[in-house]
Amino acid sequence: MNQPYHRYHAKKRFGQHFLHDQYIIDAIINAIYPQYGQAMLEIGPGLGALTHKIEPLINKLTVIEIDRDLTLRLKNHSRLKHKINIFQQDALIFNFSDFSNKKNQLLRIFGNLPYNISTPLIFHLFNHINAIHDMHFMLQQEVADRLLAEPGNKNYSRLSVMSQYYCQMFPVISVPASALTPIPKVNSTVVRFIPIKTTVQSPIHIHALHRITKAAFNQRRKKIQNSLQYLVSIEGLMKMNISPDLRAENISVLQYYQLADWLTKNHG
Ligand code: SAM
Repeated sequence: MNQPYHRYHAKKRFGQHFLHDQYIIDAIINAIYPQYGQAMLEIGPGLGALTHKIEPLINKLTVIEIDRDLTLRLKNHSRLKHKINIFQQDALIFNFSDFSNKKNQLLRIFGNLPYNISTPLIFHLFNHINAIHDMHFMLQQEVADRLLAEPGNKNYSRLSVMSQYYCQMFPVISVPASALTPIPKVNSTVVRFIPIKTTVQSPIHIHALHRITKAAFNQRRKKIQNSLQYLVSIEGLMKMNISPDLRAENISVLQYYQLADWLTKNHG
C-alpha cells in the first residue's frame, strides 16, 4: 500500500515532509479514533500516509490539498477515489463553517500540517471554531510547545493565550524527525484540540483579545502598565486585581480574558 516515495520529489514551498513510519501512522490514527458517519476532514493528505490508513475505517473523507500533482494521485487511486471528496485549494482560505453547515455536522479535522503555515492555519481554524468537533494536528515541536505553554514559561506567547482561549489541548504522540521523508530538522508532536464550548466568542470580545495580546507580547519585556497603556488604565488593572508591574508572560489566560472584557466595555 505504500506510495513510491522515492519517485516523488517533495516540494519545499508546500512544507512537504511525508510520514513513512507505520508504527507512528497507526498511533496517530488510533489517537484520532475515526468512526463511520463522522465528518472527517484531512488537511494536506500528501501521498496519503494517513489517508490510506483511515479509509477502511470510515465511509467518507474530505481532503484539502494545495498541490495539484498530489490531488491527481489521490483522485486516480483505485480504492480511495470512491470515498474521498477532494478540494484542491489553499486550506488558509477554506470556509470550514460553510462546509460544516452543508454537511450539517461538526467537523473532525486532522493532518500532518505543513510547517510553514501551521500557525496562521490554526488562527484561521479558530475563526471557524463553532464548526469543529475536534482537531488532531502533527506540528513542529516548537509550535506544540508554544500552544501548550503556561504562564511563566519562556514559550508562553500570543499563540498560547489565543489557543487556550478557544481549545483545551493535549499532546498525544511524540514523533521523531526520522519518521518523515525528507527528514526535517526538528521533532514533532501530535496535539489534540477540543473546542471549549462555554467560551464567550463574540467577535467584539475576540477582537479585543487580539488587541490586548498583540500589545502585551509585542513588548513582552515591558510591564503591562506600559505595554497596555493605550488600552487599559492603571485603575482598570487595579480593579481587576491585575498588578500593573506584571509582564506579558506572567498573565494567565483568564486574566487576558478579563482584560479583553474590560477593553470591550470601556472602549466599545
Ligand atoms: N499528510 C501527509 C503525510 O503525513 O505524509 C503530508 C504532510 S506534509 C507535512 C503537508 C501537506 O500539506 C503536503 O501534502 C502539502 O502539499 C500540503 N499543503 C501545503 N500547504 C497547503 C495549503 N496551504 N493548503 C492545503 N494543503 C497544503
